[in-house]
Amino acid sequence: MPSHTTFKPIMTSLAESPTVPSFSRAVPITRRTFDEVIVPTYAPSSIIPVRAKGLDVWDQENRQYLDFGAGIAVTSLGHCHPEVVKALQQQAEKLWHVSNGYTNEPVLQLASALVATTFADRAFFCNSGAEANEAALKMARKYADSFGHSHKKRIVSCVNAFHGRTLFTVSVGGQPKYTEGFGPLPPELTHIEFNNIDAARAVIDSGVCAVIVEPIQGEGGVTPATPDYLRVLRELCDQQGALLIFDEVQCGMGRTGELFAYMGYGVIPDVLTCAKALGNGYPIGAMLTTDKVAAAFSVGTHGTTYGGNPLAASVALKVLNIINSPHFLHRVQQASDNFMVALQGLQREYPQILGELRGKGLLVGIELTRAYKGRAKEITRAAEEQGLMILIAGPDVLRFAPALIVSDEQIQEAAKRLGYALAKIAKA
Ligand SMILES: *Cc1c(COP(=O)(O)O)cnc(C)c1O
Repeated sequence: MPSHTTFKPIMTSLAESPTVPSFSRAVPITRRTFDEVIVPTYAPSSIIPVRAKGLDVWDQENRQYLDFGAGIAVTSLGHCHPEVVKALQQQAEKLWHVSNGYTNEPVLQLASALVATTFADRAFFCNSGAEANEAALKMARKYADSFGHSHKKRIVSCVNAFHGRTLFTVSVGGQPKYTEGFGPLPPELTHIEFNNIDAARAVIDSGVCAVIVEPIQGEGGVTPATPDYLRVLRELCDQQGALLIFDEVQCGMGRTGELFAYMGYGVIPDVLTCAKALGNGYPIGAMLTTDKVAAAFSVGTHGTTYGGNPLAASVALKVLNIINSPHFLHRVQQASDNFMVALQGLQREYPQILGELRGKGLLVGIELTRAYKGRAKEITRAAEEQGLMILIAGPDVLRFAPALIVSDEQIQEAAKRLGYALAKIAKA
């Protein structure tokens, strides 16, 4: 490690300086570079993906991988989907950014499309899931405040929930390992056990301004809410005048075989947050809500520079138009059925490793058996060696979130590669 006194050339003019080589030419970019120049918040794989198409990804050595993670449920139309690429390219030639001092056509088209197809009357755009939730949580406090309910500050959320990494959203999320050392945390937050109706009844009172829940807990282990649970949360929120916020950042945009998961549950939230697959890899987040709730925000109360930028909005509009068709969503359900059958086959073959299979649509988790607890990461590495990219959801759950365009052949191939990996793990 160089010390602070080590001489470092001032690199203001790389091109003119004969002593400072151009980095792209002189320094080979390897996985080791990550350890040298990136703040160490991640532990990425030893391979570096360099290009991709559909569900196929290639690394620096030109090795092919089948992508059953989709960048954590993000590239739901597959990598470099031709129509999405075209939407981005066409917009890139027209208008990139104008600031919120102006609106733009793509964002108005996107908002209109989202409003036309969901419970919502209005949309707020931002750049990520955390920001969508941050907006929702701030709005819930402001909404209660706008009625003069100064006591109504408490936000109820679930243990094992994940809502993002800003200080507010990470505090509302129910995973203490993510807030350790970041205190003092925002006050008036209560965490309850997910899917426990009695726990919800016990804490949702008139002091609560919002309840936030993932219809399917993603990071927390791919656990769907029970229909009764969401129905009771809706009732309790109505009784107590609290807003019900559904975090559909991971489970929304067709992932469950419905455009949004709430549609399958038949429980309508007051606020819905969305990101990840909305941009298929181009950063964008959205918070959807009703006229009544949106009125809590007025000019200047909240904002973000890039939110609803024409590039992001053009991409998201194209993504939404492709996903939001009965034919497309029907195929997601069909692919899900086939994938479940393939995974059940592996479960029968490796009952010593694979436990409960759960999820909805193409958001699927397998809990590892007690004997293999804590080894999910190791299994994803073994799968990668067989050319299959998969995810974990905590140390004990394998998570699968392939692009929604996955073919039956790709499902069979993924099951085959996962089988090879499990065989190795079983032997070791
Ligand atoms: C990923 C995720 C977030 C955070 O989204 P970012 O874009 O990483 O900020 C929030 N909620 C859920 C359910 C998520 O899966």
